[in-house]
Amino acid sequence: MPIFEYLCLACGKPFEKLQKSAAEDAPPCPACGSTEVKREFSSFAAKAAASSHSGCSGGG
Ligand SMILES: [Zn+2]
Repeated sequence: MPIFEYLCLACGKPFEKLQKSAAEDAPPCPACGSTEVKREFSSFAAKAAASSHSGCSGGG
């Protein structure tokens, strides 16, 4: 399950939310409860691509 990053436009606080898909509705800000949030580009994809060192053989 991917983690989506959001930025609250009301208080400017970034937060993360586990969601099944990007089609899910944006969650309210956990800090102020505002629904004025926007989705940030997730960085986990870039990290996964960057780490190419293999620990154990075989993929899973
Ligand atoms: Zn907020």
